[in-house]
Amino acid sequence: MKNLNGTHSLNGVQETSRNGHVHEHNGKSHSCCEHHNGSDSDELHDEMGDQHILTSLNTPLREDAFKLTDAEKITKIEGHFRQIMEVLGLDLTDDSLKGTPRRVAKMYVKEIFSGLNPANKPAVTLFENKYQYDGMLVERDITFHSNCEHHFVPITGMAHVAYIPQGRVIGLSKINRLVQYYAKRPQVQERLTMQIANALKESLQTEHVAVLLEADHACVATRGIKDVTSSTVTSKYYGIFEDDAYRAEFLKMIRLA
Ligand SMILES: [Zn+2]
Repeated sequence: MKNLNGTHSLNGVQETSRNGHVHEHNGKSHSCCEHHNGSDSDELHDEMGDQHILTSLNTPLREDAFKLTDAEKITKIEGHFRQIMEVLGLDLTDDSLKGTPRRVAKMYVKEIFSGLNPANKPAVTLFENKYQYDGMLVERDITFHSNCEHHFVPITGMAHVAYIPQGRVIGLSKINRLVQYYAKRPQVQERLTMQIANALKESLQTEHVAVLLEADHACVATRGIKDVTSSTVTSKYYGIFEDDAYRAEFLKMIRLA
C-alpha cells in the first residue's frame, strides 16, 4: 500500500512508484503518460496527448453528440472499425475476425463509453437521515474501468469516496453507480476525479466530499515508457475535507495513511 503521508498535496496529482519515489506535478499534469522530448511531428502529437492538456472539467462533446441514435452510431463505428482492421491488413473473412467490427462498435456505444450519454446518468434518490448520522461515511475500494482518451486503452483503478451527510443520505450503491457512469467515457484521471467529486456534491447536497482515485494506465504500462510499476493517484477535497484532520482521517480509513 502506498504511503502518502507527508507528501499528499491538496487536490493534487501524484505519481507514486513502488520504490517509494513520489513525483508531484502542478495544475496541468500528466496522469497516464511519459514525457517526450522528441521534435518531429509524430512525436509532437504524442507529446500533446501525453501532456494531458485539460481543456475543461466537462468532457469535450460536440453539440450534436446525441443526434444519432445508438443503433446509428453502432452501424457507423462498425464500418470505420472494419476499415481500420482492413488497413492493418487483417483478413475480415476469417471466422474469428469477421464479427469484431460490430462487437467493438456495440461495446463502445453500449458499454465502455455509455457514460458519455447523459440519458445513462444514474438517478440518485436521497433518503432522510433518520439515524441523525453526522459522521464521515467512506465508500472505499470501488473498482472502476475507464479508458484513456489519448490512446483508447484501459485505465483500471479504485475510487475511494467520503462524505459527511447534511440532512439527507444516499443509497450506497448509488455512489458506486456514479463512479461507474463517469468512468465509462474516454477520460483523463484528473477529470474523472473532478467529475465524480462534483456530481457527489450536487447529488448529496453537501459541501463535504472527498474523492481519491488510484489507477494503472495501460498506455504507460504497455507502450511508450512501458512502466508497469507506477500508478497514479489523484484527489479532490471539498468543504471540511480541506481541513488537515478530516483529510487525515479519510486517508486512514482508506488505508493510505
Ligand atoms: Zn494515455
